[in-house]
Parts: sequence; structure tokens; C-alpha cells
Amino acid sequence: MITASQKPIDEIVDLIKPYQKVLVLGCGTCVKTCFAGGEDEVAVLASALRLKFKQLAQNIKFEEFTIERQCENEFIQEAAIAIGRNDAILSLACGAGVQAMAKRFEKDVVLPGVNTTFIGIRESPGVFTEECSGCGNCGLATFGGVCPVTRCSKKLLNGPCGGSRNGLCEIDPDTECAWHKIIERLTALGQMDNLKTYIPPKNWDTSLSGGPRKLIREDHII
Ligand code: SF4
Ligand code: SF4
Repeated sequence: MITASQKPIDEIVDLIKPYQKVLVLGCGTCVKTCFAGGEDEVAVLASALRLKFKQLAQNIKFEEFTIERQCENEFIQEAAIAIGRNDAILSLACGAGVQAMAKRFEKDVVLPGVNTTFIGIRESPGVFTEECSGCGNCGLATFGGVCPVTRCSKKLLNGPCGGSRNGLCEIDPDTECAWHKIIERLTALGQMDNLKTYIPPKNWDTSLSGGPRKLIREDHII
């Protein structure tokens, strides 16, 4: 999932104050799971904004709406009528959702209400951890299913660095050492031989460093 967190309310207030009718638009998938932009967050944020603008003596009308996914045209269309009634859309989707809305509704103002953070998992209730940087050339098979590109603070492919203490990273003692986990996993799997061969520097052409990427599935193009 893609994780995000809501922007500070004062930042949102600054973004929307030039407008008179604002659609607070939620997204029912990733941002709902991480409590940043689902239907509940739309309701809470819209109430907070109504109160805030009342205090500021500025009359802005807020409408609330949530669609299943702002990153897919199939669902985006459901918001068209509500968008037509408003001056601006405050999107609580991730950066991809905000841009998908801006592409679909070229003449409408689309503002981001959340800060998109990372690709991760829900580790435990209320705790989300970063797991993948979308490098475009996955090496998890070598590393026992633990990603050093993302989870090692130094991104070492031939770790560990030697600074780990009690399984924790020397850069941040609140974070597990990825290489400690890699060695634990490979030992349990009987695959420590994976680490006998030097792993050459990664080719970052497949990552964002090679420029914006596109995924084309010819077999699904109509
Ligand atoms: S190796 Fe690349 S694709 Fe695989 S989990 Fe790590 S960052 Fe993601
Ligand atoms: S302590 Fe572990 S996770 Fe931290 S930088 Fe060193 S090898 Fe990477």
C-alpha cells in the first residue's frame, strides 16, 4: 500500500482560502487504510475546516465525497457531478490520485490534502513501515525477502555495516537492522550461500533515477 498522512490543518487552510466552494474528496483504498484520506477522515477534516473558517469569519462551503480509488478513471468519473458544483477539489488521495484527478479534470483546481510518504505495510494497528522503494529490479530472492535498498539506512547490498547493536540500526536505534533480519532469514531458510557472491552496484536505470517510468501491458491494451 501507499502510505500518507494528512497535511497540517494550517497548511490546508492556506491552500483552500482563495476558494468559496471546496469539495473534500476522499479515496477509499490505501489512504483509508492508513487513516489519512478515507470517508471518516473526509468527515473529520471537513468539520474541522468549517470550524476553522467560521473562526476566521470567511464563508467557505464544504462538500464531502469519497470514491473507491482516485487513481483509476473507472472510479474518478463518479465524482464528476460533485466536482462541477465546487471551485476546488481538496484531494485526500496519494500523489498519484491527486495527479489522476488533475489529468481527468483539466480545468479544475486540485489541491493535495495529504503528504504521500512511502510504499509500506501495516505492521501492527496504527504502525506502518516502509518496505519497498519501487526500484524496478527486485532482488528480494537474494536477501531472504528483506529489502536492503529500502530497509538498510545505508542501502548496503553487501552488508552488514558492522554498526548494528542488538539487531537495531546504528543510524536509528528505533529501527531494526535490515541486515540483521536478512541474515536471520537466510539462516532460517538455509540460504546463507546467497551472500558468498559479491553483489555488484545496482543499476538504478530501472528506478526513478532513470526518469519517470511507465508500465505498458500490451495484452491489456484495447
Ligand atoms: S529490491 Fe526494489 S522492488 Fe524489491 S522490495 Fe526492494 S526496492 Fe522494492
Ligand atoms: S546497522 Fe544495519 S540497517 Fe543500519 S546501516 Fe548498518 S547494516 Fe544498514
